[in-house]
Amino acid sequence: MNRRKMLQLVTAAAGGNWITTREAAAQERVARATRGLPSPRIKDVQVIQTAPAGLRLPVVKVITDQDGLYGYGCACFTQRADLVVPAVEKYLRPFLIGKQADRIDDLWQAMYNSSYWRNGPVLNNAISGVDQALWDIKGKQANMPVYQLLGGKVREAADVYGHASGGEIAQVVESAKSYMSRGFRHVRVQVGVPGMEGYGARGGDNSTQIKALHSAPVFEPAYYIRRALKLFDACRTQLGEEVELLHDVHERIHPTQALQFTRDVEKFKLFFLEDVLSPEDIAWFRLIRQQSSTPLAMGELFNSPHEWTPLISERLIDYIRVHVSQAGGLTPCRKMAAMAEHFSVRTAWHGPGDVSPIGHCANITLDVVCYNFGVQEYSPFNEALQEVFHGCPVMKDGYLYPNEAPGWGIEVDEKAASKYPFSGSGRGGSRSNLNGGWGEVRKRDGQIIKQ
Ligand code: MG
Repeated sequence: MNRRKMLQLVTAAAGGNWITTREAAAQERVARATRGLPSPRIKDVQVIQTAPAGLRLPVVKVITDQDGLYGYGCACFTQRADLVVPAVEKYLRPFLIGKQADRIDDLWQAMYNSSYWRNGPVLNNAISGVDQALWDIKGKQANMPVYQLLGGKVREAADVYGHASGGEIAQVVESAKSYMSRGFRHVRVQVGVPGMEGYGARGGDNSTQIKALHSAPVFEPAYYIRRALKLFDACRTQLGEEVELLHDVHERIHPTQALQFTRDVEKFKLFFLEDVLSPEDIAWFRLIRQQSSTPLAMGELFNSPHEWTPLISERLIDYIRVHVSQAGGLTPCRKMAAMAEHFSVRTAWHGPGDVSPIGHCANITLDVVCYNFGVQEYSPFNEALQEVFHGCPVMKDGYLYPNEAPGWGIEVDEKAASKYPFSGSGRGGSRSNLNGGWGEVRKRDGQIIKQ
């Protein structure tokens, strides 16, 4: 059959509505492009609330009108997890029901703009839950892992770093050796400071308790800085030059101290120094950059393009370190990574225990498809997590591998998830009545610190 004859038949089959051969050709192209992939519509949006490892993990489930076609997305803002749930159920759910599930970018823009006021962590996490679920659905439709939809792998697996922590420097060194013996090439090192509430490690020996004018946990930046420098010295002496050392300041020091610290640690050749400034102080990066060659990572608290765009375009940092759900999900973060590639800024997506295994799948997907990947933070999946989330990414010899099943390749056992409800405690269960929130930390005179 020649093309003209076929188009005449298509025209005749148009149900009595006279259409031109040009329109018929367009219909034919559409039919060919969508063959086998009928457009699913969103039938329901739900939130699974589970805390298998003690940290609150809200996970969004988007269900379509096609039998058995649904997806999961990470909406993990663990410190305010209860607020993400109504943001999804009361606002996004009615907004989305009936819409086409395969128009991911369009739906992202629609959700983002539907609140009018935007770029907040609760709403961004809610959007992320839906966004990542839509990518999961599209992968299942295509019968491919999501990394294939993004162009396929540029590397086999992601180099990850583990957390070596301890109250004493010797404990940190031993912990780092343990990681290295398991094949890790990158280790984050954090040591406690006696009598202080350090970040990433408890305070160790309390014999030199700092006298404070209050009873809250205490943190003094200068003590911490001196202790951290001793730690790096011990690590380089005892661990050698080959291991890549990372460290997280967690925005706890003044920008002036940050400038000095980035200069003082130059000789230890860190892989990166993380969050040396708070998001409110990012303009200081221009001064730090002019005076220090220490590689800088920043961004796990970022919500908005207004925060990361200047740091990338002015090459003020080396690693963009965003919490993917906090920025709104896979859709904005793949664009962020693509922008960063042109400025040779690398990615190091936030990946601790307050990211769900679905979120870790989104991280590892970006890791293997983005040329400008740097390193991936790794948090092990304990037995309870694996009981709830079937198909967690596999770590071997310090490399994390993406799941090869369609979509994210994870199935959530909702019955098992219900065994691990949100508790009333805060920060990993160590504080009561904070609903997953963090308590305060103060300087010895009583001033609150950023944490
Ligand atoms: Mg951090």
